[in-house]
Amino acid sequence: MNPYNLAFPVNPATHVSAGGVEDIVAAVQQARRQGRRVSVMATGHGLNAPIEDGVLITTERMREVTIDPAARTATLAAGVRWAQVIEAAAPYGLAPVNGSSARVGAVGYTLGGGSGPLSRAYGFAADHVRRVRLVDGTGQVREVDADSDPELFWAVRGGKGNFGVVTEMEIGLMPVATLYGGSVYYPGEAARDVLHAFGEWSADLPDRVATTSVAVLRLPPLPELPEVLRGQLVVQLRYAHLDGVEAGEKVLAGMRSVAGPLLDTVQELPYTSVDSIHQDPPEPMPFWDGGAGLAGFPAEAADALLDLVGPGQDVPIPLVEVRLQGGAMARPPVVPNAVTGRDAAYALSAVGLMAGDAARVVPALIAEIVAAVGPWRSASDLFNMIGPVGPERVAALWTEADRARLLAVKQRVDPAGMFGGAHTIGRTS
Ligand SMILES: Cc1cc2nc3c(=O)[nH]c(=O)nc-3n(C[C@H](O)[C@H](O)[C@H](O)COP(=O)(O)OP(=O)(O)OC[C@H]3O[C@@H](n4cnc5c(N)ncnc54)[C@H](O)[C@@H]3O)c2cc1C
Repeated sequence: MNPYNLAFPVNPATHVSAGGVEDIVAAVQQARRQGRRVSVMATGHGLNAPIEDGVLITTERMREVTIDPAARTATLAAGVRWAQVIEAAAPYGLAPVNGSSARVGAVGYTLGGGSGPLSRAYGFAADHVRRVRLVDGTGQVREVDADSDPELFWAVRGGKGNFGVVTEMEIGLMPVATLYGGSVYYPGEAARDVLHAFGEWSADLPDRVATTSVAVLRLPPLPELPEVLRGQLVVQLRYAHLDGVEAGEKVLAGMRSVAGPLLDTVQELPYTSVDSIHQDPPEPMPFWDGGAGLAGFPAEAADALLDLVGPGQDVPIPLVEVRLQGGAMARPPVVPNAVTGRDAAYALSAVGLMAGDAARVVPALIAEIVAAVGPWRSASDLFNMIGPVGPERVAALWTEADRARLLAVKQRVDPAGMFGGAHTIGRTS
């Protein structure tokens, strides 16, 4: 049990390292008898509160992946990370709708929606779930798909861990073998020009630009970083185009010329190198994150962010990213689901380091960054990107009608309100 986020203590009353569905059924039944809550952890990328009592089920031993190339599907056990699925699907020229880091858990990511490097072309990861097997709050194993239980199938794809422990998930795979992708890094002094240009350029991009974002990075002086980036404040433009070098270069030209880049890594990539686009840190660290959906990203919004985290500000905030959403994510999925943030044109996420003295100021700083974009907020936020927030922010992810619908499903499958942790959609009893 080694969570990626080291900011929160993990001291459950009982820890069950599950090897299969039977272990999970037994753990849930025991928790029910003892009146305890249940937490689930695959990788700890989404740990957002201390785990101080209750039953913790870890799924890292459940690592089976099966690819059906003819059906273009993958069946994943609860503890699978995206890297495994990417490697297993690649020989067939297929790819999952994974996130920016292949070390993230496929199930937790997908249940929260999941917006990643292919999402503008193919939608949220949750839009491609075909079936889940779930242990509910009574210890019952449910096979859930669009026919067997349409309400639970709707709720679990977007409502995250609120309805039980998913032990297995079947997802659709996309016909993607290569990308024209990578990053363009600009010096911190050019931050205002780059963010303003990004706001204009990104407002009207084809869906084949499967992802793009700008990130203001405060990089550590690590020897493994290229010398020009080491210890610097830089702006990273992240980019992936699905139609090869020529089409990709043509669209990117508008941004490449904005300011003299320090480094440009955009090139034709095998999909197995998709992690190299965002370059999320692989090693566990203590962090506090936050985010919001944005309806637009005009120059005023960029300025509001840079006034807090731009050049000249001495803040322990290694990353503030504004990622273009839209495209297929804005369209309704084939089978409706409870994914939030579908209306967001951009997604803001900010990460602060909870180390040393910084730990005392970081949560307030993250709240300030989110508040700064208040005037440009979309109607809803992306569940995966809200960070450690209170129940009112979780409740506000859905309309009143959708939240009532989610609560009705929860009442049926989790009557004691055992699941969901700090991100519970509400107590049903
Ligand atoms: C470096 C980094 C990059 C990220 N990139 C993206 C991104 O590009 N797009 C995006 O959308 N999100 C992104 N995220 C957010 C990430 O998707 C969420 O934090 C997600 O919850 C992580 O899932 P996990 O299983 O790895 O984490 P864990 O901390 O192990 O689990 C988090 C939560 O997922 C739920 N969960 C996990 N497994 C199960 C299960 N078997 N059954 C029921 N519930 C379960 C539970 O609610 C659990 O509390 C990123 C996070 C990090 C730290």
